[in-house]
Amino acid sequence: EGGRWLQMCRSKTSAPKNFCDYESMRRTYNIRVPQRFNFAKDVLEQWETKEKKGQRSSLPALWWVNDSGEEVRWSFEELGFHSRRLANVLHQECSLERGDRVFLILPRVPEWWLVNVACLRTGTVLIPGTSQLTARDICHRLQASGAKCVITDETLAPLLDTVASDCPSISTKLLLSHRAMHGWGNLSELMGKVSDDHVCMDTRSDEAMTIFFTSGTTGSPKMTQHSHCSYGLGLTVNGSCFKLYWLDLTEQDVFWNTSDTGWAKSAWSSVFAPWIQGACVFVHHMPRFDTSTVLKTLSSYPITTFCTAPTAYRMLVQDDISRFMFKALEHCLCAGEPINPEVMWKWKELTGLDIYEGYGQTETVLIAGTFKGMKIKPGSFGKASPGYDVQVVDEDGSVLPRGQEGDLGIRVKPDRPFSLFTEYTPERTAECFRGDFYLTGDRGMMDDEGYLWFIGRADDVILSAGYRIGPFEVENALIEHSAVAESAVVSSPDPVRGEVVKAFVVLTADYKSRDHKELIQELQTHVKTVTAPYKYPRKIEFVDHLPKTVSGKIRRVELRKKEWGQQTSKQIW
Ligand code: ATP
Ligand code: MG
Repeated sequence: EGGRWLQMCRSKTSAPKNFCDYESMRRTYNIRVPQRFNFAKDVLEQWETKEKKGQRSSLPALWWVNDSGEEVRWSFEELGFHSRRLANVLHQECSLERGDRVFLILPRVPEWWLVNVACLRTGTVLIPGTSQLTARDICHRLQASGAKCVITDETLAPLLDTVASDCPSISTKLLLSHRAMHGWGNLSELMGKVSDDHVCMDTRSDEAMTIFFTSGTTGSPKMTQHSHCSYGLGLTVNGSCFKLYWLDLTEQDVFWNTSDTGWAKSAWSSVFAPWIQGACVFVHHMPRFDTSTVLKTLSSYPITTFCTAPTAYRMLVQDDISRFMFKALEHCLCAGEPINPEVMWKWKELTGLDIYEGYGQTETVLIAGTFKGMKIKPGSFGKASPGYDVQVVDEDGSVLPRGQEGDLGIRVKPDRPFSLFTEYTPERTAECFRGDFYLTGDRGMMDDEGYLWFIGRADDVILSAGYRIGPFEVENALIEHSAVAESAVVSSPDPVRGEVVKAFVVLTADYKSRDHKELIQELQTHVKTVTAPYKYPRKIEFVDHLPKTVSGKIRRVELRKKEWGQQTSKQIW
């Protein structure tokens, strides 16, 4: 099958970049899921072969840099060589078998990518987690998943040791470190002991491949399982096999996706989508997001494609971008949260580049997006991805007419899309299906041209004096005012109206010392003039920062619960 996937990629590379015809993209997207599929064998090994024959560009497969100027560049051949050794460590040294679960917590270090490939090769199920998890989060994840092996570095190993005795499923602990640590196998040492000969496991397409926990924006993160085909092939919609698709990558591209290694977005955009196209995955190991470093990196390396979170773009447009000249940047993307139209306009004004938005979930891969060449309607996250029939449905699961607000759903009957997750726990899985649809938990609307508009997470929509108000539109109105760097809008109790709109606002540097009372009035008047007056925030509070998930998403639930005097759990899980 491997040759087949690459065949498709080849036809893309010969097609002109920027080509887009949404309807024909949908028509031609026709993936026949093979019985057996393994991304390492069917994609990565094929690129390795092409590389050896001199049939691929000279770009590395992985190009890693850090703040101290260190660099690692691996070709597909080197990636194959190291990951085959690591696969032998997992199987021979640690006795891990196909289906066993491997919990991985590493920051953005090259070995994170090696573990990804080694797990694919051995058929073990990878569970990545972010380095910011607490002992309690880790314990919960290990117990819920029954992981047999943990892999981490010396910063987190002591934390893992504190919970290991509560997690009896663990039989192997592997450490990435120059030092030895009691009870831990040393990854590099073990890799030195084994050969680089490894036959990749011939996995079934529907076999479990990975488990990601959702971001925990609305509540406790959900343990979400994916198969070899749902991520391995599902992400062709991002990667742009065939003609175009969201990332619009080719093997000539250098793609930098900034997301943390613990979130599903890192699988999408730092592993599967770029590599299916043979593109170069660029990584900057920044300890924390820093706008200057980002802008310098975009100016120093030939990065053609850049994807980051809306919160990062909101920070970037506050910086003095005119100091920088980007080296090769031509395609910018964002996902994970809605992006404010104002930020898109500012980015365009400062860089000349549009931001292409993607809408998706840990559970789904890309559900909808603005695809290259398509008209962008700021505020809308575009149209349904080619693999999905996305509809707005009512509480009975019936499709609503265009223009009406409802639940965003994906049709799963008669055919369940292959790129959808396999399951959470059984009870939780059942909750998110209604009639013929999988429900995303988000509210939205489809316009006459088939564009989808995000209104808010179902729990975040505010009901005030008979009106339904989506927080996103109020936040969009607020950010148009130069005083607002970012904001979060939630419901707040009111004796007369039941609930009213309240905005938590982070001020831009120039406005921090302004009189707050005056500024509140000014912002209220501003919102009334740019959007329907009933949506204006009757309450405004200025804050230094907003509560966010580790992946940078605003946790409105935390603010809302505080307003209503309810408890919130601080832990991520
Ligand atoms: P949890 O399910 O644990 O509450 P989460 O939903 O944030 O967390 P993810 O799977 O990481 O976990 O995120 C998917 C959600 O992110 C979507 O359901 C949607 O609410 C939001 N999202 C992603 N992209 C966009 C976008 N472009 N516009 C609006 N919302 C988006
Ligand atoms: Mg979710």
